[in-house]
Amino acid sequence: MSSFPERARQAENPELSVRQRLLALKDCVTRFPLYGHQASWQHLISWARIPLRLEDDLDSLTRAVAELRGARELWLPLTAEFAARRRVEKAAGRRQHLKRDRWLTWRLELYCPNPALRPVDSMARVVARVVAAHQDGSVFGRDCVVCGAGRPVEQACPGCGVSILGRSAWRWR
Ligand SMILES: [Zn+2]
Repeated sequence: MSSFPERARQAENPELSVRQRLLALKDCVTRFPLYGHQASWQHLISWARIPLRLEDDLDSLTRAVAELRGARELWLPLTAEFAARRRVEKAAGRRQHLKRDRWLTWRLELYCPNPALRPVDSMARVVARVVAAHQDGSVFGRDCVVCGAGRPVEQACPGCGVSILGRSAWRWR
């Protein structure tokens, strides 16, 4: 399976056919489904203004890739730094990670069960807010860290649609 960076470059490549580029973009969403596949795709269509007839605006593919890449590149260094730190800790005999680091072992997923309701900001801004909230411990508070709306933590936010506990929490309900 080719990687996100490889598929992203293909989605941007004007030498490929429109269909090949679109499939490459869809694969990028599959590899980085921040809001879940459907909601992420709906976000990209509106954020990057992807037209029904793609030929009318091929640059929209590049805008969509940039949107995904911006969010992914905020997340990757955090997990890389955590992996490096864990190697040092394990070598020093600490087998379990600290409780406050648990979120770094999860896949980044801000699942939006209703694809029509999702954050309006850029994915990078949303990811930055969620990361900051994990770091300061406010992420599971009474107010949504993405949009500020009050909501029970176990429900999808009525303001921005994000279920902060992720898809797994959603599935077993
Ligand atoms: Zn919200």
